Amino acid sequence: MTPTPVTRRSLLGGLAAGGALMVGNGLTGSAPLVSAAGAGGDLPRTADVVVVGGGISGLVAARELARAGRSVVLLEARDRVGGRVLNHTLANGAVIESGGAFVGPTQDHILALAKELGVATFKEYVAGDNVFAANGHTMRYTGTIPPDLSIILDAYIMQLRIDWMSSQVPVAAPWTAPDATAWDGITAREWVRQNTFNPATGNLLLSYLQPTYGSDGEDVSLLFFLWNIACSGNETSPGTFERASGTADGAQDSRFVGGSQLIPLGLAAQLGDIVHTQAPVRRIAQDANTVTVTTDRGPVTAKRAIVAAPPSLVAAIDWDPLMPPLRQQLLQRLHLGTLMKVDAVYPTPFWRASGLSGSGIADSGAVRTCFDNSPPDASVGVLLAFVGGSTWRAWANRPLAERRNAMLQGFAQIVGPQALQPIDYVEHDWTHDRWTLGSPVASAGTGTTTAFGPQIRVPFGRVHWAGTETSTYWAGFMDGAVRAGKRSAEEVLRS
Ligand SMILES: Cc1cc2nc3c(=O)[nH]c(=O)nc-3n(C[C@H](O)[C@H](O)[C@H](O)COP(=O)(O)OP(=O)(O)OC[C@H]3O[C@@H](n4cnc5c(N)ncnc54)[C@H](O)[C@@H]3O)c2cc1C
Repeated sequence: MTPTPVTRRSLLGGLAAGGALMVGNGLTGSAPLVSAAGAGGDLPRTADVVVVGGGISGLVAARELARAGRSVVLLEARDRVGGRVLNHTLANGAVIESGGAFVGPTQDHILALAKELGVATFKEYVAGDNVFAANGHTMRYTGTIPPDLSIILDAYIMQLRIDWMSSQVPVAAPWTAPDATAWDGITAREWVRQNTFNPATGNLLLSYLQPTYGSDGEDVSLLFFLWNIACSGNETSPGTFERASGTADGAQDSRFVGGSQLIPLGLAAQLGDIVHTQAPVRRIAQDANTVTVTTDRGPVTAKRAIVAAPPSLVAAIDWDPLMPPLRQQLLQRLHLGTLMKVDAVYPTPFWRASGLSGSGIADSGAVRTCFDNSPPDASVGVLLAFVGGSTWRAWANRPLAERRNAMLQGFAQIVGPQALQPIDYVEHDWTHDRWTLGSPVASAGTGTTTAFGPQIRVPFGRVHWAGTETSTYWAGFMDGAVRAGKRSAEEVLRS
């Protein structure tokens, strides 16, 4: 196949084709999971900018550059775009997500992008009571903190302190926080242990940490945790624990009609022949004038590159010259979490009739955190559990039948015995994904942010960094991916 030069004209063709595709399928309903973009043949040999990674961040970066008139080649290892965002279509045609799904207030960039692409949101179901299961008993409650008298005061004070401390952490430079060294020298778990009366309060915090980081409190430093809370906002609304962890008005406020993967698919449709799937990048070499990115489908030489992949996958690329040691060390220390998303499907969301929201927290077992994940028309009922960190280690490597049984028992504990009889059961363990290697996000343990954090966005010669982990707001989320994509493209355009 003759190499296709990427020109402004081909971009416009791509945008036009994208527009036609969007009208054609309305970007709702069951969208194809594989991008329509080039998946075979030779790559263009040259471009102004080459973007590595076809997740939301790389796609946004490529679009910004293409809109500014630059020729762009986007190289994606998988046979699809979206990275950590992946739709799953159920037997009745309803769509749920295996990866990123929830959005909420202050996530302005992903919400604006969705609106532009015609992808609507709907509110996460929150009517009715949540359930807290602890010590073999269950209690119903509303709001975010379970009304367990033994922990409520502890949890309330802990939340106030977390908000106050995180307000001291600058989102773009957490290593400059007044207490950065002390806070980076202690794990989140140890801080909680020292500052609560009841060990159960720290255990409760796992229902936030495991889904959000795929890690436990001992895996992340207090500074990283506080920075992540500070990031859970925007330029006018500082992040708070409530915003980061909450459902209504929080990070789990809403979902996308038709599934979040409609967003990367919509971007790829607009980009057209700029996007090349099945093109894993193995090597990046640069000199004073160019950067050459070598894939299984051949090399592409450009003036600049943007790398928009998770840290451990960036570290696995063969760099010539090597990345600066401080950056290498940072990437080695940013560890991806371990997380599995499990969905049980029922003929109806039966729990709603009993006045239950489907949300629940448990102090033990395979289901530590549970949400109603039903589609907007409630054509089926879906319960979702995040199995992360130590809960992932306890359950992910057991036989499927044993794990499935434990998951259903966990759901039954929250919504009743009907949960034991699903019509479908779906799980996605992201540690098995060659091009993600864990999820949902990379986190930092003690000492990393202060010693190596300042490297996070520093360009390496002709190479610039995108990916949600490099964002200053909503890092680790889809919104952070959009923000980082835009920022990296601005850097390249300025340079
Ligand atoms: C289970 C789970 C639940 C989540 N829940 C939420 C949620 O509810 N809300 C939310 O906002 N976020 C959530 N997230 C996080 C969100 O999905 C991510 O923050 C976001 O999608 C990251 O986008 P990205 O473009 O930065 O990275 P990625 O999506 O990881 O994209 C990187 C891309 O680079 C490609 N790549 C890697 N290495 C190479 C290489 N060498 N050559 C070429 N290509 C390469 C990968 O294949 C991938 O497509 C969740 C994630 C998971 C996994």
